[in-house]
Amino acid sequence: MRKAVVCLLCTWLALPSAFPADNLSLAGYSDASARTERDWEAKFRSIPDPANLRAYMQRLSARPHHVGSPYDADNAEWLLGKLKEFGLDAHIETFDVLFPTPKQRLLEMIEPTHFTAKLAEPTVSADPTSGQHDEQLPTYNAYSIDGDVTGPLVYVNYGIPEDYDLLDRLGVSVKGAIVIARYGGSWRGIKPKVAAEHGAIGCLIYSDPHDDGYFDGDVFPLGGLRNPDGVQRGSVMDMPVYPGDPLTPGVGATKDAKRLPIEQAVTLTKIPVMPISYGDAQPLLAAMKGPLAPAAWRGALPISYHVGPGPAKVHFKLAANWDLKTLHNVIARIPGSTEPDEWIIRGNHHDAWVNGADDPVSGAVALLEEARALGMLLKQGWKPRRTIVYCLWDGEEPGLLGSTEWAEAHAEELRRVGAVYINSDSNGRGYLGMSGSHTLEHFLNGVARDIPDPESKVSVWQRNQFARLARQSPDERMEVRSRPDLRIGALGSGSDYTAFLDHLGIASIDLGFGGEDASGIYHSIYDDFYWYTHFSDTDFVYGRALAQTAGTAVIRLADAELLPFDFDDFTDTIRHYVQEVERLARDRRDQIIERNRQIDEGLFAAINDPRHPLSAPPKEAVPPFLNFAPLENGLAALDRTAQLYRHALAQANTNAGSALARALLRDANTKLIAVERALTLTDGLPNRPWFQHQIYAPGFYTGYGVKTLPAVREAIEQKEWKLADEQIVRVGKVLENAGEAIEGASSALGQAVK
Ligand SMILES: [Zn+2]
Repeated sequence: MRKAVVCLLCTWLALPSAFPADNLSLAGYSDASARTERDWEAKFRSIPDPANLRAYMQRLSARPHHVGSPYDADNAEWLLGKLKEFGLDAHIETFDVLFPTPKQRLLEMIEPTHFTAKLAEPTVSADPTSGQHDEQLPTYNAYSIDGDVTGPLVYVNYGIPEDYDLLDRLGVSVKGAIVIARYGGSWRGIKPKVAAEHGAIGCLIYSDPHDDGYFDGDVFPLGGLRNPDGVQRGSVMDMPVYPGDPLTPGVGATKDAKRLPIEQAVTLTKIPVMPISYGDAQPLLAAMKGPLAPAAWRGALPISYHVGPGPAKVHFKLAANWDLKTLHNVIARIPGSTEPDEWIIRGNHHDAWVNGADDPVSGAVALLEEARALGMLLKQGWKPRRTIVYCLWDGEEPGLLGSTEWAEAHAEELRRVGAVYINSDSNGRGYLGMSGSHTLEHFLNGVARDIPDPESKVSVWQRNQFARLARQSPDERMEVRSRPDLRIGALGSGSDYTAFLDHLGIASIDLGFGGEDASGIYHSIYDDFYWYTHFSDTDFVYGRALAQTAGTAVIRLADAELLPFDFDDFTDTIRHYVQEVERLARDRRDQIIERNRQIDEGLFAAINDPRHPLSAPPKEAVPPFLNFAPLENGLAALDRTAQLYRHALAQANTNAGSALARALLRDANTKLIAVERALTLTDGLPNRPWFQHQIYAPGFYTGYGVKTLPAVREAIEQKEWKLADEQIVRVGKVLENAGEAIEGASSALGQAVK
């Protein structure tokens, strides 16, 4: 679950204001329009029906529907028909992308004994769709290169860079070896990337029962956790470099797009990689010797975990069909009545690895039900001010293909008109996960206050606040009680907001409920209607809550006279990030000084157990002090301009409903939209120009996990001190640019109320 958020009334409502300080006022609305808006929103929230969500899910997840499969295209046509039936103007937009599917897969242990891995998920008799083997994609990792490799096994825990540091100290090298890593600790694509950097020739990734199997509960079909044969498929494309079609970076993969030859596609893996079940992994791990794995590396299999190398030796072979497949994005558009060139975009993917009832259908059905409800409001006379675009993306699973190609194909237009993108993906029971651009933190808090939680009957916002109070430390509790808004999470990657936020600089939000049900069917054939209706949001009331939340956000953004961006929470968040990177640099320096001292003192030699040797880490050069002044100056600019905007807004509130000049308000909205764009640089992050946002990015070595102020933070983490100093200057300038953009919005708003 993501960090949740609380909102009392806005900071600016505390200022002199014509808006009454009760819960009927709405940021960005005059009194009269707030009342009308509240009426439309209440109507909207009464429409979504759990019975519809269930029926949509049954239809969409009835057969496997991965990219390029017949049922994927069939679903797209069905979705198109539904959107049209709801009265919306909809179409399918296609792209042609590289999507490899397996032709040959073999994994065998050849020493010290022979064992051939099953690489198959069997039918479960209680589960009616688990037997659709003819249509299921076999277990594999998409965008692994082909290969035929033989070597000793080395167990590398999660296979992240720190794990290799410890292997070095244990005296274990992976050069020429095949690594076996467990799922977790990072996004899966990081594991083969780091293994290849260390000289491994192949990579196996298995699901340890500690992470989503019997350690967490009963396994499927008795419970919802991963059974011994369940396998997590998934992409291993190097998405932190760029997501989307590997052959068309930066441009839409249209029919006549210029394509790279496959050999030049840098986002394919460097070594072959395949996912396996714990049923297949256990004999391999049990046959390993060498040092005992450190305590934190051990999983829940009934074996002693050794790191190797060997004596287990494996042979594996992979070959794929490297074809282009057609994506079917389903897009519906409701034109704005007064601001057609400001778009509120809402998306969820429709493709799955197999049947995908949870991922993504549980989120897609909420989106579809929102579209039905919007269609009903339109018939009753509702006219959104802004254009609303509803999108059901194809090809998310292999690498955010549908959303990325669409965003790239329409980049020029989207940079001009894209106001906000709202994403969802899998949905379950529990707490509202709220992440996104912090310019929308205050807005999102407001929406969450208006949504009833289906189980507790308090608002989903209140439930989030209570959950934080229950589990947090005293300091954090103090903040949760005193800060008007609950903090929202920052976005890394892992779903379709990536191109909108990171590439185009469109303020984005990701929403979804979860946290109450442990699940172990992710990307397996058992993620299906049977599983979902037995072990997740079985009565679809959280599906309804998602439709209510995301739909309310869409309508409220689309109808607002003034877009409800807020720069107080934003500035407060940036201050946190700046303090974090300063602390990070200080801590790194202190750690290196202390460790060098320990090495000089002979500490590691003295505490070494010669029967279980662990060598000293290497000495490192002491890092220089970094000059953070440019970031501090950027922050000061944000502080100053956020205050200007707060005053302009207070002024606008005083005049709300009377003197707001519509034409000038349009200028203010245009300038507000430009603030998120000001947080991007066209040449992007160091070594990955596709990622243009300078506040948020997926980590180069975490994959999904976010790195905030990524250029600075990653330079420090990777001990590139000169680069860090350069990036501090660059990012400091970005903050100043954002300050200028906020100042522009403030004066435009000031003009509008004169
Ligand atoms: Zn998904």
